[in-house]
Amino acid sequence: MTALPRLAPTLRSLSDLTDHGLISAAEAEALAPVAERYAIAVTPVIAEALQGGASSGLSNQFLPDSRELITHPDERDDPIGDAPHSPVPGIVHRYADRALLKLVSVCAVYCRFCFRREMVGPGKEALSPDELDAALAYIEAHPALWEIILTGGDPLVVAPRRLHELKTRLNAIAHLGALRIHTRVPVVAPERITAELVAALAGRLPVHILIHANHAEEFGPDARRAVARLVEAGIPLFGQSVLLRGVNDSVPALTDLFRTMLSLRIKPHYLHHGDLAPGTTHFRLPLAEGMALVRALRGPLSGLALRLICSISPAVSEKCRFRRISLRLTGRAAGGSPIRRGSATDIGTLLKPRID
Ligand code: SF4
Repeated sequence: MTALPRLAPTLRSLSDLTDHGLISAAEAEALAPVAERYAIAVTPVIAEALQGGASSGLSNQFLPDSRELITHPDERDDPIGDAPHSPVPGIVHRYADRALLKLVSVCAVYCRFCFRREMVGPGKEALSPDELDAALAYIEAHPALWEIILTGGDPLVVAPRRLHELKTRLNAIAHLGALRIHTRVPVVAPERITAELVAALAGRLPVHILIHANHAEEFGPDARRAVARLVEAGIPLFGQSVLLRGVNDSVPALTDLFRTMLSLRIKPHYLHHGDLAPGTTHFRLPLAEGMALVRALRGPLSGLALRLICSISPAVSEKCRFRRISLRLTGRAAGGSPIRRGSATDIGTLLKPRID
């Protein structure tokens, strides 16, 4: 098995994965149809962890699987329903006071369970300069917008100079009060969290970063250093995770994940139920099982981590809204329908449509 040098290229093909001992030649042959349909990207830090014997909690997130070719009839290309709320390219305006700004459609890694897997990947790239101008003009023209959420793709794959230009333009929009960034970069490409990148986020608008991580093993030494750099810059950090079969579908795995976050000064925030993205059935738990897991965390887990918002996408909630388990546990049903408090709200759990 070849050791990867630091800052080695990202592995982007089945042959890259075989060359680095992450899959066998026979597996590569069987996975060819998966690679034709969905992008592959395994960054050096993740490849090193996998080569070093990381558990299936890590490999299942990043290595392709033939089950991705099975599309359940309920799965859909846009499972969280972005398209109807997208008035101009790059903007998703679902709630009055906040909007998503999707700067790029590429990521450092391609997660096998990605809820935007039909929209991200090589060749989909970034907003053009004209499209970015139009997106910022839309934000300027809507004074009720208070918060912008940079998402993608992964906004932190963008060069610091471009991030700084964007931040400067957002800082100048007087009605904005906050900027949120949803990213996986601190854990999967920590070398990108440079002093230059941190400096690019300075200025009037306070920045909050939500780090997407699903397993404690994602926080290796480099990721910990990257997280510390953000903390030391005074940027509030929150965790967002997806409940995934074969990754974190147990009380010990979730406890370990959320404790690791807290130890690094990342406040666990979202736990998303798996979305109905194509080819992800093998990752998704029944809603009732997800609820039972969240309830079971109450004993072993610090109250600091129990103030989670558990979210389900509109597509999942459509399937579940008449089920007794959903009604019993849902604080606020998808779409904002009547509140009915139950045992889940006792531990600060509230279901709502996910926004990212
Ligand atoms: S980083 Fe986020 S958007 Fe990119 S592939 Fe993973 S889940 Fe999808």
